[in-house]
Amino acid sequence: MSHADVLKNLGFTDAELTGGTLAVRSPIDGAEVAQVRETTVDEMTAVIANAQAAFRAWRTVPAPRRGELVRLLGEELRASKEDLAALVTLEAGKIVSEGLGEVQEMIDICDFAVGISRQLYGLTIASERPGHTMTETWHPMGPCGVISAFNFPVAVWSWNAALALVCGNPVIWKPSEKTPLTALACQKIMERALVRFGDAPAHLSQVVIGGAEIGDALVQSKDVPVLSATGSTRMGSIVGPRVAARWGRSILELGGNNAMIVAPSADLEMAVRAIVFSAVGTAGQRCTSLRRLIVHNSVRDDLVGRLKKAYASLPVGDPRDAATLIGPLVDQASGEAMQSALAQAKEQGGAVFGGAPAEGPKGGVYVQPALVEMPGQSAIVKHETFAPILYVMSYDTLDEAIAMQNDVPQGLSSCIFTLDLREANQFLSAAGSDCGIANVNIGPSGAEIGGAFGGEKETGGGRESGADAWKGYMRRQTSTVNFSAELPLAQGVKFDI
Ligand code: NAD
Repeated sequence: MSHADVLKNLGFTDAELTGGTLAVRSPIDGAEVAQVRETTVDEMTAVIANAQAAFRAWRTVPAPRRGELVRLLGEELRASKEDLAALVTLEAGKIVSEGLGEVQEMIDICDFAVGISRQLYGLTIASERPGHTMTETWHPMGPCGVISAFNFPVAVWSWNAALALVCGNPVIWKPSEKTPLTALACQKIMERALVRFGDAPAHLSQVVIGGAEIGDALVQSKDVPVLSATGSTRMGSIVGPRVAARWGRSILELGGNNAMIVAPSADLEMAVRAIVFSAVGTAGQRCTSLRRLIVHNSVRDDLVGRLKKAYASLPVGDPRDAATLIGPLVDQASGEAMQSALAQAKEQGGAVFGGAPAEGPKGGVYVQPALVEMPGQSAIVKHETFAPILYVMSYDTLDEAIAMQNDVPQGLSSCIFTLDLREANQFLSAAGSDCGIANVNIGPSGAEIGGAFGGEKETGGGRESGADAWKGYMRRQTSTVNFSAELPLAQGVKFDI
């Protein structure tokens, strides 16, 4: 399918794709596919006021009814799955299967959120006073700002929006300036769900287009009580303190530097498959991409040999081609960052295998994934380079391996390959991995939506998606009701007047 067909199927008009100030380029070949209109900073005041007005109506709609909107969104996403996935491929450069997988993740979170809409459970608490009841209730917070990164151009919005909407909050989304079309397409899909829903307030779901200054308007506004920001640690280090300074709540989903420990008992064949998918999938441009391999000395040569063999035959190229497993990097700057990291790794004693430019459509940045054997965990290894570079290091004792796994500023995802029960549980224990995600015999990437997603330290501490992540979008209220004719004070305090 051509670019034009995909955009037409998703409902774009020519006027929406031309004459704007933001040029959209496909990483596939660098070609300009559209010029979209940008939101101005001045317009943000009205956008936020409109979201506040929507909030006043939406917060009183019963949560299961709010869930119905998200159910319809899930249906519309199912109907548009192929087209939206094709646009993800066009705009973010993902291979076909990963584009489809990203939209599937949106459908999955909608299903999950519909269930949650009937399970926004509070608590009944035992009161110490006779004739008293205590309860805990969850209420909507208000407009939720969502700032998202280029590499999951649609899923991140849905993780936030599906939950925020069932929790009673309108959503204002500022996508990456590299991927505005996928966001506009999601808004069209959402509008179809809203029409079918019937009586939702206007401006329940809004998209604003632009760079950091548009995101900053959400960050700085007291009328946006929840701000979810996904992107680099650099961005989070600006956004987090600004939201905190105005007493807002932030959900930060920032960079990762994810490791796998491969123990002597590991099933190496399984480990190789997990390593290759998680290190080179999405051309190493996932927050959960595998970047550090910590291998027991006894299996290092065997494993590295198998990996070099696998790496040598990986198909790099046009992500629309069914045989391709590694598509392009997002842009030229990303390619340069990869080469700079490889040069630094060499200076720090690394032996580089791969990493050279690869064949692909002209105008795109295609690279062979790189495997870099390092003498230790040097400065460049502790830095997240958003490209397919896998640093390989070795260890002798599990304590040493866990210490190395934890000795980076980021704390998103981690895993161990072992068949030893003691080792697996040590890794998962309080003295094990310090990451938000810790897996056994599974790679670090490709999380399911049922679990809470996010990480510690410089990854930002936020949690989205499954488990009780919905609580991040609601305010907790503790209520005490006295149905007696006395007024006893807590803790036995006497205050007779
Ligand atoms: P980025 O930080 O350059 O941009 C992310 C978003 O933040 C964009 O929408 C951008 O416009 C906005 N932004 C940047 N500066 C801002 C500011 N000062 N105020 C308000 N908004 C601002 O990130 P990127 O290159 O698009 O994405 C790659 C990064 O995202 C990687 O570090 C990756 O690990 C991370 N990421 C994390 C997760 C996660 O869930 N932890 C998921 C995806 C990506």
